[in-house]
Amino acid sequence: MASNFLYSNRDHKFIIKEWLDGTKILGLKRFRDFYSLEDVDEILDQALKVCKEVVAPTNDDGDTIKAVFKDGKVTVPPSFHYAFKYVAENGWGASNKDVDGEGSLPSFLHGAVHEFMIAANPAFVAYLGLPGGVGSVIKQFGSQEQIDFFTPKMFAAVWGGTMCITEPGGGSDVGDMLSKAYPTDDPKIYKLKGTKCFITCGDHDLTENIIHLVLARIDGAVPGTKGLSLFIVPKVWVNEDGSLGEPNDVATVGIEHKMGLNGSATAVLNFGEEGVCRGYLLGAPLDEKGVGQGMAQMFKMINGSRIDTGHCALSLATVAYNNAVAYAKDRIQGRPIENPRGSRVPLIQHEDIRRMLLTQKATLEAMRALIFQGYYYLDLIFFGDDPEDVRQAKRKIELITPLIKAYCSDQAWLMITEAIQVHGGYGYTEEYPIARQARDVKIYSIWEGTNFIQSLDLVFRKWGLDNGNILKEWLQEIAVFTKQNSANAGFTREMAMLGQALKAYQELIGTILGYTKSNIRLVPLYSSRILRITAELYCAYLLMQQALVAQEKLAQGIGDTDFYQGKISSAQFYLRNIVPDVMATTRIIQDYDTSAMDIPEGAF
Ligand SMILES: Cc1cc2nc3c(=O)[nH]c(=O)nc-3n(C[C@H](O)[C@H](O)[C@H](O)COP(=O)(O)OP(=O)(O)OC[C@H]3O[C@@H](n4cnc5c(N)ncnc54)[C@H](O)[C@@H]3O)c2cc1C
Repeated sequence: MASNFLYSNRDHKFIIKEWLDGTKILGLKRFRDFYSLEDVDEILDQALKVCKEVVAPTNDDGDTIKAVFKDGKVTVPPSFHYAFKYVAENGWGASNKDVDGEGSLPSFLHGAVHEFMIAANPAFVAYLGLPGGVGSVIKQFGSQEQIDFFTPKMFAAVWGGTMCITEPGGGSDVGDMLSKAYPTDDPKIYKLKGTKCFITCGDHDLTENIIHLVLARIDGAVPGTKGLSLFIVPKVWVNEDGSLGEPNDVATVGIEHKMGLNGSATAVLNFGEEGVCRGYLLGAPLDEKGVGQGMAQMFKMINGSRIDTGHCALSLATVAYNNAVAYAKDRIQGRPIENPRGSRVPLIQHEDIRRMLLTQKATLEAMRALIFQGYYYLDLIFFGDDPEDVRQAKRKIELITPLIKAYCSDQAWLMITEAIQVHGGYGYTEEYPIARQARDVKIYSIWEGTNFIQSLDLVFRKWGLDNGNILKEWLQEIAVFTKQNSANAGFTREMAMLGQALKAYQELIGTILGYTKSNIRLVPLYSSRILRITAELYCAYLLMQQALVAQEKLAQGIGDTDFYQGKISSAQFYLRNIVPDVMATTRIIQDYDTSAMDIPEGAF
């Protein structure tokens, strides 16, 4: 046994039906004829069942059979084919990314479905999700002709999709990429030349065609990211009548041999080896200054992918946690410290095991709260009926996107190491599922912009948006909440802690603004830590909101006591054990330690 899909949808039901205002989202014009709050349980139960019965059984094949590159072609494990068709045809996949698709789920419901699917087989899901993401970009920026030509087959996952940014010499620094595009006689069509590496789902045999979105520089464009344009490059050229034509000179050079996600083909692709690779320009040609629209267009997809990445990380860490709980209840080891001659007990009765399990439970719930708050804003942004709701949601999603991507992927890795620790030596073996979770999860801190890049985005860009007013309003929201609830007898310690953390964070902003003038190198030195404590502060606020709901439910005596008490315990643990990091890290940053820069390179 390697994978073991243990999953519950109770927290999702709580989030959608009891915490966030689910009625508001499902009551929007876009959704009200299709869904109501009463449908939520059935959708989530059905999705979990499909993931358990159809997707999870393919997980081990992904890890053992793997994606294979042979004779210039990539194949995926045979079991992926049936699951892919089933999920796409039953409306659980790419079709939900179509903002106009009839009956597509709101993000905060589809997000839950997606979480179960990732947990069931993380290598499989990208094949389904990418065509939807690529289709959305074409729908937003393409001509009507391009939209009609490409997107129906992408939302139906009849064609695959990829996002081709990275090159051997251009990783984090996207502006250094070398791929070029040359005009042809047809102003809509360009010839492409270049090599892209690490392309997820870059080649496979699940679909008859793959539509690559390729970033490249049109001949004559300015250097750097400003000069980039985006192209729709089919693997197989599509004839005007929609039938498939000749291969489009996109050669698969190989796939990476990775530490995890082995069922997902990560390809090196050569565009235009034979000089006949063609692509459609998306949006407008270069302006008179040689500036292209590619980076802004790609960011439409990248922002969504960053949220998705944080969510993938949460899924895997949740599988690890659920397995750790099951193992800790089952494994008999040691005796109680207060009764050394007593009977042997299950691991879960030991203090340090409970610490590790509650660290995981509280952190995972914090991550889920953060992510679903993000989906809630996305639903308002895309479908909100009230322009003020849309405006507010747009402001808030800016700040929380880097937190979702980086905090969740960093913490997921750490939480999985705790789950391994709960298993002891068995956790280090491939017979148990946790080692596999660790191998699979690590990528999420790296792709879609490394977590360091996210931290720069937070501090250098997001903090300063609208002259710092978005950040100010965001902190004000936490301040108002803390003040309003400081007298709640059940949570005086927690509300006081939240108030202290907020105060420390406000001081920290001043410190960092000072460093930008006195010693700019200190900002990237500290930015990853700033991102972490920003997320801790915000997650604490969200967990306290959930704790208040749980407190109310317990007072009403409606049952499910363990769940609601568990919510309160998660919030208390997080506030008392994790949030003090906000104050400690603020002190460290204010201490102006430069040793990492002062040490001579030869000393490393
Ligand atoms: C499995 C997998 C799938 C992927 N899928 C895709 C895909 O579908 N499409 C795609 O386009 N790409 C994809 N990628 C590529 C991925 O996005 C890049 O690997 C990532 O952006 C980092 O680039 P790099 O590997 O070149 O690392 P580098 O940019 O070399 O970074 C190495 C380290 O240096 C740090 N660093 C870089 N610059 C700085 C700086 N200025 N200051 C401080 N630190 C810095 C980074 O944070 C990182 O820790 C994938 C990668 C993998 C492994």
